[in-house]
Amino acid sequence: MSSLLLFLIICSITPHIEGWGRVGHSLVAHLAESLLDERALKWVKTRLTNQMSEIAFWADTIHFDTDNLFGFNAWRWSKPLHYINTPPWDCNYIYERDCINDRCIHGALKNYSTRLKTFDNNVHHQQDFFFLVHFVGDIHQPLHAGFNNDAGGNGVSVRFMNSTATTNLHSLWDTGMLTHRMRTEFAGNINTYYAYLHSKMLNEASKINDDNFTQWASESLDIVCKQIYFNEMNVTMNSSIRYNLGEWYYQRSWPVVEKRLIQAGARLGALLNRILIKHTESTKPPATTTQRGCYNAAFSIKFSMLNFLFIFLALSYSIDTKTVV
Ligand SMILES: [Zn+2]
Repeated sequence: MSSLLLFLIICSITPHIEGWGRVGHSLVAHLAESLLDERALKWVKTRLTNQMSEIAFWADTIHFDTDNLFGFNAWRWSKPLHYINTPPWDCNYIYERDCINDRCIHGALKNYSTRLKTFDNNVHHQQDFFFLVHFVGDIHQPLHAGFNNDAGGNGVSVRFMNSTATTNLHSLWDTGMLTHRMRTEFAGNINTYYAYLHSKMLNEASKINDDNFTQWASESLDIVCKQIYFNEMNVTMNSSIRYNLGEWYYQRSWPVVEKRLIQAGARLGALLNRILIKHTESTKPPATTTQRGCYNAAFSIKFSMLNFLFIFLALSYSIDTKTVV
């Protein structure tokens, strides 16, 4: 393959920002919420959100022109915060090399968990929380600590379970295998699947209760290096051809997907409980302007679509008017 063609392929790769997709992020947040102690739950419900699972995907939707037509460009700065990139097959995560100036998911976790510990830094308190919930989920999707030459598996084309549709390795780990597992084993019912994950988490929670962000990233990278890129013939996958992945790959991978969802939920719940212990409760509530700013960010997607409708109607009216004239 010519170097020019390789360059063009790499340039055309979509950045990996989605993480677990809507379903996975929702499951992680719901698991975490179930572990919040009484004080933390009250803090979340009264100051931040009524339902953690509903805001868990917000940090991705702000990047979509389909969801945030007039605002998505304003959030470009936050795209690198969804992942860590290492040189290809360099399986040791090195913070100084892979997270320069904290512009990676590790830096984001440090930043938003610190900001949430005090109202003194409460510029965008609710927004900090939305980001933290999302990024704890993302860092547990192994390919969010992946290789920079294919954007964490986005550049590796695959077909899954004989589907005629082509997807990519990153997307398969984001949503493909999770969706398949829910559909084939839980009749597509997210509540049943959540109940199953929840009971599994309660049995394992004591073993995975920590907030060592370096370790979380290293665990993901380890899974990437030891498992994800090997197909059923034990051939190392790359961006040059399309691979067919079936039952063998799925059976080997779904336990990892589930383990990471459970770890993310348990760790997020424990992290939020710990943050609240250190949280300096102010005698006065956050400034009104801050609250308003956060709400604007959270609901900008709905508002932008409404704006679009208004503009469309206004243009239609204008065209009609000109036609008449
Ligand atoms: Zn993300």
